[in-house]
Amino acid sequence: MSLDQFADPIMVVVAHPDDIEAHCAGTIIQLLEQGKRVGYVLATSGNCGTSDPAMSAERLGGLRESEQRAAAEIVGVRDLTFLRYEDGDLTFHVPELRADLTRLIRQYRPRTVITHDPYPGNGSLDSCAIYPDHTTLGLTVFQAAYLRAPSPLCEPKQLREGLPLHKLDMLMLIMSGAPDVFVDIEAVFDRRIQALRQYKTQGRDRPEVDAFFRRIARQLGEHADYTLAEGFRRLAPT
Ligand SMILES: [Zn+2]
Repeated sequence: MSLDQFADPIMVVVAHPDDIEAHCAGTIIQLLEQGKRVGYVLATSGNCGTSDPAMSAERLGGLRESEQRAAAEIVGVRDLTFLRYEDGDLTFHVPELRADLTRLIRQYRPRTVITHDPYPGNGSLDSCAIYPDHTTLGLTVFQAAYLRAPSPLCEPKQLREGLPLHKLDMLMLIMSGAPDVFVDIEAVFDRRIQALRQYKTQGRDRPEVDAFFRRIARQLGEHADYTLAEGFRRLAPT
């Protein structure tokens, strides 16, 4: 069963509020139903994601964090970390970001990390996949998870503080053009949409949201004979 490929504990690391609900919340709902532990890390609070000239970045960041908390409540996740990097700017903060992610991985000790595909390819179902925040974060998580967290020579200050080295089992990549793990989400699709509807600042409460995400889930489902699915690309340790 595809859910068995997500060893627990599971850390979900994404660039913006709503990335999880748009791509993998149906899987997370079912992992929680199996009693698995799941925590979220948000690299930015999406504080530039508006076309409203009257909105401030500070207010938007706060609103989107509230929306993320409400969506996580519907999914059943209580462990949320907001790193609050500037939205759209992750490419320019890789050294700090990889140190933060290495620390979180050493603290949380996940066996699976779900994050963005750094090389989503032309076949991606979502043009947002090549947004630099997504690809940069995917690559930085890869570096933190597989190269830095297990190395005694990387971020040694964290080790002197008492954090242990850690190597996880598997990265599971969302927004990939080459998914190879498919999770049946038909039974929880409505709950995923309910979580997505919390993002009013992003227009996710509009009626057409259901049809848009249903179409993507149906396309992913065709790979595995499911009606509605989410898809991931497995990336094994180096
Ligand atoms: Zn995003």
